[in-house]
Amino acid sequence: MLDQLNEISDKPATNQKLAPAYLCLHGHFYQPPREDPFTDRIPIEPTATPYANFNEKITTECYRPNSLAGNFDAINYDLGPTLATWLEDTCPDVYQRIIDADKKHRATYGVGNAMAQAYNHTILPLAKARDKRTQILWGLSDFRHRYGRDATGMWLAETAVDLECLDLMAQYGITYTVLAPWQAATNIDPSEPYLVPLPGGRSITVFFFNAPLSGGVSFDSSMTDNADLFATSYLPGHLVQSKRDAGEAQLILIASDGELYGHHKPWRDKFLTHLIQTVAPNYGFEVCTLERYMRMYPPTREVSLRVPSAWSCGHGLARWDTGCECTEGNSSWKGNLNLALRSLAEKGDQLFERYTSETLVDPWAARDAYLPVRNGWESLEGFWAQHSIDQRPPAESSLVQRTLLLLEAQYYQQCSFTSCGFFFEDLNRIEPRNNIAFARRAISLVWQALGIDLQPGFVSELEAVKSWRHSMNGADIYRQLPVVRPDQLPPLSV
Ligand SMILES: [Zn+2]
Repeated sequence: MLDQLNEISDKPATNQKLAPAYLCLHGHFYQPPREDPFTDRIPIEPTATPYANFNEKITTECYRPNSLAGNFDAINYDLGPTLATWLEDTCPDVYQRIIDADKKHRATYGVGNAMAQAYNHTILPLAKARDKRTQILWGLSDFRHRYGRDATGMWLAETAVDLECLDLMAQYGITYTVLAPWQAATNIDPSEPYLVPLPGGRSITVFFFNAPLSGGVSFDSSMTDNADLFATSYLPGHLVQSKRDAGEAQLILIASDGELYGHHKPWRDKFLTHLIQTVAPNYGFEVCTLERYMRMYPPTREVSLRVPSAWSCGHGLARWDTGCECTEGNSSWKGNLNLALRSLAEKGDQLFERYTSETLVDPWAARDAYLPVRNGWESLEGFWAQHSIDQRPPAESSLVQRTLLLLEAQYYQQCSFTSCGFFFEDLNRIEPRNNIAFARRAISLVWQALGIDLQPGFVSELEAVKSWRHSMNGADIYRQLPVVRPDQLPPLSV
């Protein structure tokens, strides 16, 4: 008996008191814009029956129950601007609970738990530098409006990254993001954050998510059948024993689409509630969020990244660019759709720059500042005071209207690169159709502003964008888009 007691008391103190193990669940909550860009209404989506559209269905299955259960208060999350806009208009109670979660978190811990998102869910490394900047600044502006504070974290669409994106983010005050472990150029330990040195002397903190657990909760339903089993059978195996022995803190980060909790996986909203409120703490895990963790345990090691890269393609960014084997069938339509959209954007950009240079000091800086104005969050007077050559609205009303129409055309041009249009296997789906519809809205606005019709060139390039599932191409899709008033678009001559 005495020997046994001695044996116990001789054990190092760190073995008697376990080192802190933190658990963070990050939900990326996002829906692509589903609105018809000419009416701002979502067309009926028959496959969402009995709901009118998928936003309503997913709200009932996921956003509402997770918000009612208080799950947003404890997890880390980002709420995409296009989804936030729809929720704010359609389900303000759900929207408010999600926004308030960040405020409550700040009141309790001094830091928030919401991250911003680049505005249009664009694959940023595929965009020009000035488009990256606009996407980041619009995302930050949207965040500031909704949460009443500046964002410190930013979620990248598909975690698609290059150093230019990160450098721009750091330049505008972003201190951390989340990536997949295979986006590191070397082996990393995902139980701690890393510092990525950036060109120009800046740096940014990167959290790498735990890949087996994040993949498991996303795709293996059996893993999330039972929260107790999850905490006892799956989590402990991912703790780094040497850190346990040394008494060092560590973090298990599980990042996934937020919609899995209740929509992709029924009832997993309840799994999440039980895990974060009861089970994880009972089994020695402290539920934590990313900025809070970073404040307590800043990164101590540096890492370099494999760039460009993303979380759901093993071929760089080919899934959203030229196409690759990540999606079935002949994905060459993606490259041709990109060519058509980029060529249209090039023409749109040239016209924008040429014709707004007459009224704006710096058209591209004005575009960066346009989002809060178009959304009514900031006054048009303030916009003209800052960006107009005359420091007030142009004297001629036709110049005022032309400038605003061209800025709005830029807005829809940005929408036409929404990543979802390139994510799936075939052209003949709602997501690529929506990108083409956004491009048509941009064409319409340029035509209303300048009387220049960009349709013929665009539609002729869309002929080369071919569905492999169905006998149709991008031009067919363009021609099938809803009829609009004759003053919005000239007749299609090709
Ligand atoms: Zn791929």
